[in-house]
Amino acid sequence: MNANMMQQPLLISTLLNHAERHHGEQEIVSRRVEGDMHRQTYADLAQRARRMANALAAKGVSFGDRVATLAWNGYRHMELYYAVSGSGAVLHTLNPRLHADQVVWIADHAEDQVLFFDLSFLPLVEAIAPRVKTIKTFVAMTSREHMPASSTIPDLLCYEDLIDAHSPEFTWPLFDENTASSLCYTSGTTGNPKGALYSHRSTVLHTYASALPDSLDCSSRDTILPVVPMFHVNAWGLPYVACMVGAKLVFPGPWLDGKSLHELFESEGVTMSAGVPTVWQGLLAHVEANDLKFSTMKRTVIGGSTCPPAMMDAFEDKYGVQVIHVWGMTELSPMGALGKLKGKHVGLDAVQRRALQAKQGRSLYGIDMKIVDEHGGELPRDGRASGDLMVRGPWVIANYFRGEGGDPLVDGWFPTGDVATIDADGFMQITDRSKDVIKSGGEWIGSIDLENIAMAHPAVAMAACIGVKHPKWDERPLLVAVKKPGAEVTREELLAFFDGRIAKWWTPDDVAFVDSIPLGATGKMLKNRLRETFREHRLPTA
Ligand code: ADP
Repeated sequence: MNANMMQQPLLISTLLNHAERHHGEQEIVSRRVEGDMHRQTYADLAQRARRMANALAAKGVSFGDRVATLAWNGYRHMELYYAVSGSGAVLHTLNPRLHADQVVWIADHAEDQVLFFDLSFLPLVEAIAPRVKTIKTFVAMTSREHMPASSTIPDLLCYEDLIDAHSPEFTWPLFDENTASSLCYTSGTTGNPKGALYSHRSTVLHTYASALPDSLDCSSRDTILPVVPMFHVNAWGLPYVACMVGAKLVFPGPWLDGKSLHELFESEGVTMSAGVPTVWQGLLAHVEANDLKFSTMKRTVIGGSTCPPAMMDAFEDKYGVQVIHVWGMTELSPMGALGKLKGKHVGLDAVQRRALQAKQGRSLYGIDMKIVDEHGGELPRDGRASGDLMVRGPWVIANYFRGEGGDPLVDGWFPTGDVATIDADGFMQITDRSKDVIKSGGEWIGSIDLENIAMAHPAVAMAACIGVKHPKWDERPLLVAVKKPGAEVTREELLAFFDGRIAKWWTPDDVAFVDSIPLGATGKMLKNRLRETFREHRLPTA
């Protein structure tokens, strides 16, 4: 029997309409590439997105066309999020941290038609413009007075000219909610990057689930500053969540160093932020060095790689900022699990609480997860058994863009490539990425645990643990560590620090001190690069 309820497609434009009608006066503040601060309201955003939708139509962008961006977090990027997807075209956020060759490869693969870019990326765009096959229209996201005096890009258009030239009268079209809305490529640490093509439906459902109290807990009383870039997995969905709940938004532009972020947190009364651990390291170092505090920040979302417990200690115990540990992937839109404690955990002592928070957390509604052994058999949820983490849900990809790499699913589940445990309360803990696992004498050693311990040492700024060849055990852990500026620690002292903190046989065999650890385009440590560097490393023989 069919129900009697309205059939209204879940479209991204409905988020914008809602924000305009119910939170029209709410602010969006941006630190601009041009160097100044810019302020507008949700009503301005909606009106300018409609003008841009008219401009896109005038430039021949039609339903399903890919419109690319190379841009920081800012109000114009936000306008494109809504103008492009709202009109039925597909927003393709390119990652400017990739090498020009990769950007060309991805833009060609996606068959992008138009490219919008921030002026900081002019040299990159000039380098790729003669090489990309399908991009016909290039738009600099700035106003007339900041347009480059000369450029090798033919017929370069100006964003504000397009806005000014078009009417704000535009009715967002209605179409099937399964229509593609945006496209984001995985960073492709192995092989070519692959595209995750999100739909309006998957995005809106992801937005509902992410905003909930046991998720990011966002409301109209919040001031959200997404540090996580809008060019990687839609800034974890925050541009959509902000419209859904009517939160004030603060965009940092290209200035992601500790000093700039802290100033913005304080001057705009930011209550919530989100980013990868490497960004927070810079912020904490600045705050510590200058004896500062956070007067309005209540919580920060940390994910993308493991949040070291030492970072949680600093945020929560020293500065009173709650850490929400999240786990996700490009293929999951990206939110999969969050480390929010349950009511039953209220009475836990600080150490027990921290141990739970260090896990990657519980599934949010919509994501189903399980761990399996090498034959695909489901493993118990006892917090001990570890296996390949599989997920499914309405915002998990079913296929990569253009069917690249074949069918990724196994019996309807998406294999995440992570190795994890799940406990009886549903808390999932990543022990490794399957390709980073260290196999010693046929047993697995979790590199993340080792890194967390090393990072808790006061002299260590960053640490990565990799497996290197060992004649007897196959592989043994090597700790690659970066010291904090001015701090001293010897190999022996650092190895002794593991005593009592981990099973003896998990203790790394050796330490290599380096000046820096290579990071990928999404801020993750490039362990494959380290494995390459230390391929011939000779471990001391005990
Ligand atoms: P890619 O590097 O391919 O772009 P993503 O940026 O989508 O991938 O990152 C997904 C991966 O990042 C996950 O599979 C997991 O290994 C890692 N990851 C994400 N969040 C966390 C977390 N909180 N703790 C540990 N690992 C994480």
